[in-house]
Amino acid sequence: MEKEESTGNGALVVQPPQAVAVMPGVSTMALEAATKAFQDVRKFVASILVENHDYGQIPGTQKPTLYQPGAQKIIRFFMARSEFTIVDKIEDYEKGLFDYNVRCDIIHIQTGNIISSALGSANTYESGFRWRQAQRKCPECGQETIFISKYENKETGFKDFYCYGKKGGCGAQFAHDYEPITSQQTGRVQNPDIADQKNSCLKRAEKRAQSMAALNLGCISDLFTQDLEDFQQHENTKEPPPKQPEISEADHAMKTSLKYYIQQLAELDSVKPDFIFQKLMGNSKAMVKHIDLSNQPGQLDQLREAHKSAYQQIVDRLGDIPND
Ligand SMILES: [Zn+2]
Repeated sequence: MEKEESTGNGALVVQPPQAVAVMPGVSTMALEAATKAFQDVRKFVASILVENHDYGQIPGTQKPTLYQPGAQKIIRFFMARSEFTIVDKIEDYEKGLFDYNVRCDIIHIQTGNIISSALGSANTYESGFRWRQAQRKCPECGQETIFISKYENKETGFKDFYCYGKKGGCGAQFAHDYEPITSQQTGRVQNPDIADQKNSCLKRAEKRAQSMAALNLGCISDLFTQDLEDFQQHENTKEPPPKQPEISEADHAMKTSLKYYIQQLAELDSVKPDFIFQKLMGNSKAMVKHIDLSNQPGQLDQLREAHKSAYQQIVDRLGDIPND
């Protein structure tokens, strides 16, 4: 990989042109130029990712999902590393509830600057952790490889159970009403080893934060669904996500420039773009509180207006944008 190439492209993302003001009355041309630069970076980053390795389409989803190798590739491309901080957690062994809120900072190795940052969370009440798909367990060998025969038993007329050798079972056969099998609970059952899932839950929160931070870094978050990599493992127990409405090209461009706008707001406010975006989308009270706490009093009113106007534009044009 060419060093010059990557630094050149990286710089566009990390430090958008300072001449572009973000307050109402911003010059359209400046915004257009910025948007163009922004899209060039998107294209380039998207082009270094390899389908089915760095990202892929998971059945039941509308957008491709960024896998961990893809996220790591983007981070390496920007010559950066990830650092994780647990910002909030619940560890309740009694209730079996573990809940982690993790921040991933992407740190430019040479300068030590944080060039992207995102939050990710996971908790053990998510269906993938809390439930497991229970199969009938063989009373002989203990494997979960009991199936019901396709054929009726010639003597009883019932379809019996058998332990399937090709799936690792012992081949034993059992009557259709064999109590040690029929009494077993199948389907979705609560995971008994929930405390053991603590660590994988934390890992998942980290992975989500890292994916989001990498996507923000490459300006490509709207091309991807970021947190569904674990979807496959839990396909049986997780509801497919609702279909997202189709977004027209105009709306897409709008959304892209709004993201840029949000990034600029974040810079002025010295917070992460992710924070602004989430707050615009969600909790506006917390946003106002945050602004009031900010130590840039001269810019407060302008910022408030800008936030309001950005939010209004989002709502007017797109309704609720799915939070990618
Ligand atoms: Zn068996």
